[in-house]
Amino acid sequence: MTERLYYHDSFLYDFDAEVLEVDVAGSRTALILDRSAFYPTSGGQVFDTGWIRPANGNDPSQKLRVAEVAEREDGTILHLLEDLTTIQTGTRIRGLIDVDRRRDHMQQHSGQHVLSAAFVRLFNLRTVSFHMGAESCSIDLDAKNPTQEQIQAAEALANDIVTDVRPVSIRFVTQEEAQELGLRKLPPVERDKLRLIDIRDFDLTACGGTHVATTGQIGSILLRKIEKVRQGWRVEFVCGKRAVATARRDYTTLAESAGLFSSHLWDVPQQVRKSQEEARTFRKAREQLMEEIASLYASQLLRETPEGGGRRVVVRIFPDRDLAFAKLLAQKLIRLSPDVVALLGTTSGQPALVFAQSPGQPFDMGSLMKEVLARLDGRGGGSKDMAQGGPTKIEAIEVILNELAARLRG
Ligand SMILES: [Zn+2]
Repeated sequence: MTERLYYHDSFLYDFDAEVLEVDVAGSRTALILDRSAFYPTSGGQVFDTGWIRPANGNDPSQKLRVAEVAEREDGTILHLLEDLTTIQTGTRIRGLIDVDRRRDHMQQHSGQHVLSAAFVRLFNLRTVSFHMGAESCSIDLDAKNPTQEQIQAAEALANDIVTDVRPVSIRFVTQEEAQELGLRKLPPVERDKLRLIDIRDFDLTACGGTHVATTGQIGSILLRKIEKVRQGWRVEFVCGKRAVATARRDYTTLAESAGLFSSHLWDVPQQVRKSQEEARTFRKAREQLMEEIASLYASQLLRETPEGGGRRVVVRIFPDRDLAFAKLLAQKLIRLSPDVVALLGTTSGQPALVFAQSPGQPFDMGSLMKEVLARLDGRGGGSKDMAQGGPTKIEAIEVILNELAARLRG
């Protein structure tokens, strides 16, 4: 088993060790050391990254990037290097932890302990799982439906504990001793010795992760989205510098939105509601106007279209109207008079065709549509009196519709 240096000191950012084994894992070299301060992914916390270089010498070209750290079942820690290397078994190395990443993980993970304990203290809501993501973290609460008041109360208590600057200490106990102590959480695997994380007079739990030395180092705990999940409710949160970065991003977004409305930040929801209401009103007014325009236009077209073979065949292609308008116009035309056949098209946006005839006219719009689309390389169809389709070749639309109109006029 690799000796885990982070078990005793989370602030140990560099260390000496010996290479015990060199393996290849895919395209990467995997090193096993006799001791390590690198944290491998486990218990919801993600791995450390950093560098490994020979113990003697400062040649930057010999500094190898540790891209991932994983735990093997036998308790050894695998240090996966970004590239293949010629490093030999027995080499003395120096390990360097990526400090920013470690600090961030300590803030998130310690913040999780405080937050989970706050939910238990206030409302007896247990944490059933913890997830640490690149952007935010979450805990799943064994809860029916936490209220906004509960969320805010837990956030407030957690931040009070941060402000208290309470010591966070590590100690090791036996299973029997642990049973007596009333831990918030016992680990799922049986081990001879349990590692306890003790937040003075607030929380005592078994955990193998890296934690801060005082709660003050967590900085702050900000709760965000809550959502229903299978095993309860998921509470998303961010701590420390992440909380500041997240609040900064939220502020920028909100300030930009407020700028668009020329309003104060806090008036944005009200402004959005007002805009939505206006958009609904405009949409209704527009629909009504389109109806009126289509009616007037249909009357005008019928006046202009001469009769031939006992019917009036209207052909129109619109470069600036959409399919909805073409359909509306077709409906108006065939309702206005019993002797109409309308062959309409639009080339604005997605090209479309609409064919319609007044009830009682003898043609089949569906099959005429298929016939035309076969020549225009498109798909569509419809019923006897109304059909619609989407051509892909539009150059010949006008010629083809006029040919068809001439045929229908007899
Ligand atoms: Zn922990």
